[in-house]
Amino acid sequence: MSIIAENITKLYGAQKALDNVSLEIKSGEVVGFLGPNGAGKSTLMKIITGYIPPTSGKITVNNLDVMEHPLEVKKQIGYLPENNPLYYEMYVREYLKFVAGIYKLGNQTKQRIDEIIQQTGLEPEQKKKIGALSKGYRQRVGLAQALIHDPQVLILDEPTSGLDPNQIVEIRNLIYEAGKEKTVLLSTHIMQEVEAICDRIIIIHNGKIVADDAKGDIYDYVEEKYQTVHVEFSGAVDQKKLEHIEGVNRVVPLKKNQWLIQGNPEKDIRSEVFNFAVKNNLTVLSMQKQEKSLEQVFQQLTK
Ligand code: ADP
Ligand code: MG
Repeated sequence: MSIIAENITKLYGAQKALDNVSLEIKSGEVVGFLGPNGAGKSTLMKIITGYIPPTSGKITVNNLDVMEHPLEVKKQIGYLPENNPLYYEMYVREYLKFVAGIYKLGNQTKQRIDEIIQQTGLEPEQKKKIGALSKGYRQRVGLAQALIHDPQVLILDEPTSGLDPNQIVEIRNLIYEAGKEKTVLLSTHIMQEVEAICDRIIIIHNGKIVADDAKGDIYDYVEEKYQTVHVEFSGAVDQKKLEHIEGVNRVVPLKKNQWLIQGNPEKDIRSEVFNFAVKNNLTVLSMQKQEKSLEQVFQQLTK
C-alpha cells in the first residue's frame, strides 16, 4: 500500500500552501510528518485522503489515482483529521455503527465494532455520549473510526495534540500497535513521538519538503559545528584550567562541579577531559557526549 505524491501544488487564492511537493511512502512504512504550524501538513493530508483536490499534481494510493477513484481510495485509508471532528450528541457505539455504515461493513458490523472497541480501549466508556468523554477517550473514538474498516493506510493529523502526558503515551501506544501492519503518515509536534514510533521523517516548511530520510539519517541534515560533553567532577575546578584542555574552545559552568565543555567536532575531547581529571586528582562522576537532537534538526531546517 504505497502513497505516491507527484509535484503537488495547492493554492488557496493567491497563497501557495504546497509548492511542488513529491514523496513516496512505501508499504508498511511509519512516517513522521513534521513542520511548523502553517507549513502545509494538514493540506497535504487532506489531498492524500481525497478530501480536497490539489491545484496541480497527482496522488496515487496503492496505484489508484485519488481524484479518479475517490471511493475506492477512501476504503483503503483510515483518516483522523486535525481536531478530530466528532458528533458529540451521538453515543460511542451509535457513532461507530454510523461509520461502519458508511464503509458498508454489513453483517460484519457488530463484530468489527466489538473488536475496535477492545483494540482502542473504549470498553469502559462505550455506553457514553461522545460529548461526555475526556479528550483522551475522544481521541480513542477518532482512532476507532479511522480503523474500523481495517484500512491498509492510516493518515493521522496531530492525533496527540492537546492531550495530557498520560493520554499522549496511551494514544501513542495504540498508534504504534495499529501501525505494525499498516502504512502510516503521522503529523505531530512531539519529537519524542517520532523518535518512538516512526521509521522515517519528513519535514515540511513553507509548503516545501526540506528533509526526508530514515530516522537515523535525518540528523545529517544539520552540520555539527561542535561537540558538547556534559561532565561532573568530584570536586571544584578552575574554569580557566578547563579552557586550556587541548581541543576545547568553550566551557559553561552548570550546577555544582558540573560543566558543559565544547570542542571541535573532529576529535573526541572526552579522553582529554578524563586525563585532565586524573592529573588534577579529580574523579569523573559522569561524562556524556550530547547527541544532536531531532529538535535541533527541526529548528535549523524550519527557521
Ligand atoms: P499545517 O497543518 O502544517 O499547520 P495547513 O496545511 O493547515 O498547515 O495550512 C497551510 C497554509 O494554508 C497556512 O498558511 C493556512 O493558513 C493556509 N490554509 C489552510 N487551509 C486553508 C483554507 N481552507 N483557506 C485558505 N487558506 C488555508
Ligand atoms: Mg495542521
